[in-house]
Amino acid sequence: MVVVMQERATDEQVQQVIAQLTQMGFDVHRSTGALRTVLGAVGGNRQFDTRLLEVFEGVQEVVRITEPYKLAGRTFKPENTVVSVGDVRIGGDEVIVMAGPCSAESEEQVEASAAAVRRAGAKVLRGGAFKPRSSPYSFQGMGEEGLRLLKSAADRHNLKLVSEVMDLSQIELISKYADILQVGARNMQNFTLLRELGRSRTPILLKRGISATIEEWLLSAEYILAGGNMNVVLCERGIRTFESYTRNTLDISAIPVIHKLSHLPIVADPSHGSGRRDMVPSMARAAVAAGADGLIIEVHTDPDHALSDGAQSLYPNQFDGLMAELRIIAPAIGRAICLEPVTRRGWGV
Ligand code: PEP
Ligand code: MN
Repeated sequence: MVVVMQERATDEQVQQVIAQLTQMGFDVHRSTGALRTVLGAVGGNRQFDTRLLEVFEGVQEVVRITEPYKLAGRTFKPENTVVSVGDVRIGGDEVIVMAGPCSAESEEQVEASAAAVRRAGAKVLRGGAFKPRSSPYSFQGMGEEGLRLLKSAADRHNLKLVSEVMDLSQIELISKYADILQVGARNMQNFTLLRELGRSRTPILLKRGISATIEEWLLSAEYILAGGNMNVVLCERGIRTFESYTRNTLDISAIPVIHKLSHLPIVADPSHGSGRRDMVPSMARAAVAAGADGLIIEVHTDPDHALSDGAQSLYPNQFDGLMAELRIIAPAIGRAICLEPVTRRGWGV
């Protein structure tokens, strides 16, 4: 349920409504927009008469939310959420590009990838140190040493860092190094992990599960939001369909659907979404054209020898070319993007 306060409602009136809702057993989440305050009430007694609240001073209306997700929906928060990662804003005007290797493999590889993606205009370095591999015999990641390499390369190149957290026991460690914690597709419904991430205030990149519906995905986001962490970025990374030509089917249509249903930003991952380097640029262009708030792309300086996901990793020069194309597409739909490769003119947005 959502309680929409009047534009002129005082803080005291808001507090009185919060106290009443709390007394009725609801958990209350406050969203203060440019014009008015909206209170999201979850849990509690669903059957009660909403008029009990409508008569409170300062209340404009009380709306029952029919969707199963509450805090993730636009009814609770009509304005877009912008997730700030230092000075990088995901969900604002600018399309944010995150790029880097699938996994950290060595100091040289991490350094060369960070330099290349930053030069081309990425603002966030991606890279896994703990890898969820389909086979237990595949490379499992470098662990803390990988995080250390990623963090120092990110700092050297003025990039933020996103890295995957696979289970509860890794949250504290990875939070020391990464600015954004990635929840991988295989973990989208690891509810104990999601609940714990709700207690954190570190931004979360929540990937869509391999066979998750959009509603299930938003309900997973709800677990994090319900814990009080409103810094959630959704990531469409392709779903499993009957098509076997591509590794996954990138669901571009999820982008406008999410924008309609939710205030949370959404980025697209054309690398896992296609599984093929030759398709990544076209899928990336399509995602930006469809309104994605950002992209996360695998880039490797020597993809033919990568320890994971080499076939879908772009060569640095391909990534440069893609960024140049995105600089044409983003403004065409009213979005900003880092205007020039940094070596030439510094950041320009
Ligand atoms: C990754 O980003 O390298 C990864 C494992 O992603 P996903 O969870 O989408 O498969
Ligand atoms: Mn990967």
